[in-house]
Amino acid sequence: MNESNSRALYDRALSVLPGGVNSPVRATRPYPFFIKRGDGGHVIDADGNRYIDYVNGYGPLLLGHDLPEQVTAAIQRTVAEGPMFGAPTEVEVEHAEFIARHVPSVEMVRFVNSGTEATVSAVRLARGYTGRDKIVVMQGGYHGAQESTLVKGDASGAAPSSPGIPAEFAAKSIPVPFNDEQALRNVFEAHGDDIAAVIAEPILGNYGIVPPVDGYLESLRSITETHGSLLILDEVITGFRVGGLQCAQGKFDVDPDLTTFGKVIGGGFPVGAIGGKVEIMEQFTPSGDVFQAGTFSGHPVTMAAGLETLKFAAENKVYDHVDDLGDQLRRGLTDIVKDQAPSYTVAGTDSMFKLIFTRDAPDSWDGHCEAGCTQNPDCPRYDACPKNGGDVKAAETDRWERLFWPKMKEQGVFLTANQFESQFVSYAHTETDIEQTLEAYKHAL
Ligand code: PLP
Repeated sequence: MNESNSRALYDRALSVLPGGVNSPVRATRPYPFFIKRGDGGHVIDADGNRYIDYVNGYGPLLLGHDLPEQVTAAIQRTVAEGPMFGAPTEVEVEHAEFIARHVPSVEMVRFVNSGTEATVSAVRLARGYTGRDKIVVMQGGYHGAQESTLVKGDASGAAPSSPGIPAEFAAKSIPVPFNDEQALRNVFEAHGDDIAAVIAEPILGNYGIVPPVDGYLESLRSITETHGSLLILDEVITGFRVGGLQCAQGKFDVDPDLTTFGKVIGGGFPVGAIGGKVEIMEQFTPSGDVFQAGTFSGHPVTMAAGLETLKFAAENKVYDHVDDLGDQLRRGLTDIVKDQAPSYTVAGTDSMFKLIFTRDAPDSWDGHCEAGCTQNPDCPRYDACPKNGGDVKAAETDRWERLFWPKMKEQGVFLTANQFESQFVSYAHTETDIEQTLEAYKHAL
């Protein structure tokens, strides 16, 4: 595989971009391939190599790389009217109406420019609304590059997980293991009156994929409610990806106070949003006092791209297609690991998937989850399948990243760059892509 152009570009990039990239996860080894263009479910790099793309921009590209006519027309129309105004536009209202119509817990929306901005603002809103400072976070949960959640440690003490974050900030955060109801009860018993919110992804999507065990999301809801704290569900990945238009909260029937969105709702352009109940949302400035603002927030081009993407999804069985292919992929992977790597766990739901290189094989395959881990207590792998971020970390992460990922790339399959981040099927993928991908897995494992 010729990669001379990518190599030369990386050489240049190292002189002007820290680490040669603008987001660390892109710095694959020994150097990243630079993308020239997308083509349906594929990308083509700077040397003309073609890959089946399951990264999909780390989640936003529900429709893949060729946007349907109605989406490109809306984008072009909006650009032609002028890039942005610093005054409200109709499309922001329409997009917020769409989200509020489909997502059960959302009555009002504030658009921002990234998932990080959404979680930062949601945490501030929760603190402002409750008048409390502490935030409970999940170990292995990811909520972007923000101070309150970039923490390590456990309930007995948290420290910043990055230099540059004051220890005093981390001291306000309480990390607990995902899927551990008792751990949550313990921190609420000790600190209940000081906890502004629990922030959690409904499915760990950046450290796994790890789905919730039966009853866990319900316990997040009931424990926070009992103690007068808010539940912030971070649906930056799962929003309009898992559970279709109702999002993961609809699929799992959980009713958060606040939801954070990003990725899919911008149709491939920079976006984030906070959604929730009127009483809480109206605490944001200007109706309330919790400061929140942004020059580019509700950017018309992003709004047009995102809204038209969601409308297209609503009208064209997009979720049937991506979920069906996701199902085929996970079933195929289950058959492959049964033969070739029985200790590995197939994870994912809807159009999310990941093969986790766990270390223990099940005793039998009778009653095994067929299309990705569902945390079914009757599955013979149940005790060994990951329940939280720590379990995923204990998997064979080096083997995944250093041996497996390059082998998949060599065969023309572009996966997310490490053991932890979810991969995504798009509307542009085909059954042929899935068959080729499964063949590549057979050779790489
Ligand atoms: N929350 C979750 C669950 C995410 O997966 C991410 C990004 O991957 C973020 C927040 C941060 O979003 P962004 O990268 O748009 O800032």
